[in-house]
Amino acid sequence: MSIMVLNSGSSSLKFKIFEEGTLDEEAAGVIEQIGFPSATIRYRTQYLTTEYKNSIPDHETGLMEALSLLTDENSGLLKDISGITAVGHRVLHGGDRFTKSVLINNDVIEAIEECIPFGPLHNPANLLGIRACLDLLPGVPQAAVFDTAFHATVPVYANTFAIPYEYSKKYRIHKFGFHGTSHRYVALKAAEMTGRNDLKLISCHLGNGCSMAAVKGGVSMDTTMGLTPLDGLMMGTRSGSIDPSVLQLLCDREALNIDGVIRMLNNQSGLLGVSGVSGDFRHVMEASETGNMRARLALEMFSYRIRTTIGTYSAVLGGVDAIAFTGGIGENSCVCRSEVLSGLEYLGIELDKEANEKNIGGQRFINSGDSKVSVMVIPANEELMIAMDTDELTRDLTTKR
Ligand code: ADP
Repeated sequence: MSIMVLNSGSSSLKFKIFEEGTLDEEAAGVIEQIGFPSATIRYRTQYLTTEYKNSIPDHETGLMEALSLLTDENSGLLKDISGITAVGHRVLHGGDRFTKSVLINNDVIEAIEECIPFGPLHNPANLLGIRACLDLLPGVPQAAVFDTAFHATVPVYANTFAIPYEYSKKYRIHKFGFHGTSHRYVALKAAEMTGRNDLKLISCHLGNGCSMAAVKGGVSMDTTMGLTPLDGLMMGTRSGSIDPSVLQLLCDREALNIDGVIRMLNNQSGLLGVSGVSGDFRHVMEASETGNMRARLALEMFSYRIRTTIGTYSAVLGGVDAIAFTGGIGENSCVCRSEVLSGLEYLGIELDKEANEKNIGGQRFINSGDSKVSVMVIPANEELMIAMDTDELTRDLTTKR
């Protein structure tokens, strides 16, 4: 009996299978370029790894492909689809309505639809995955796990934008924050690793998208992303926070409209925009190492923003007990971690150089024995967190097959 976790994007479908009860990961797959002439399918279990191309015109066909892989008698691990007892979906935006994970019903689907203006690319794609499951796995309970939910505890003074208050109310505009499932997982693991559930933790999720969260005793007190994931830190291709007057100047001088400028801030900015090389951290590092000054500048800006946010969040939390790094950059780049933390000795933060540079994978401490602050690397595992929520929400359901 297994739990399936689905993360459906506009042209992709990622799936993972966890054994019910133990929550051991049994299989993982990704289907990319759905709707294109030829999609790429990658799939692995403990016993096999495969990659091939096939025509996948829509998400329902994508889910069918995933189910046939999972139940294939040579490569599969399930006898038939009745082995899937619950499905957990990653949903980007839960608006004000969802402050925790919920079981999906028609009312929930409608509410996710209502949040489309806040997550115009992701929520419709998430709904495609939910609807495909309703069609192909009828009667199987489904849960929605929202990227925004963890940050519902951010105090009003920290999540309100200083615009005329009536607009904030009329349009429900405020900071929602994202990567909540990842920050929640990091907070859980950091508490386990330190044996403390009262931690003042700064969680740094540094991947293609980047965000930080100030977490006190497992509760989110502030986070860097805003109404949308464009706000906050500098990212692969997103600018992060910026003086809005820049938007007007670019509209005037470059004959762009506001949509064009927002697209530019989302897709052509960040590491890519400053370096002119790539939005991929590794490529920018390589360029910097060969003397590319714009690439060097991009990296300095990237770590500066994170370092200053650590200062801000230690003020938010009234001190800091632990700093955790996660995401592709946070987990793998010892250079980024050491640049981010350099000069923060005044907060009692001291890295162990060797531990930081040893890329052994897995969750680990990288602070020196003298450091007052724990510094750790915690590999991201949003899917496991989704499986845990799904398991909890569906455990006692009598409808569960
Ligand atoms: P996403 O946010 O899409 O899940 P990831 O968490 O996988 O992305 O992070 C992708 C980023 O991680 C890319 O910028 C990539 O260059 C960076 N990255 C991956 N491996 C390394 C590495 N060994 N060293 C430095 N950066 C890395």
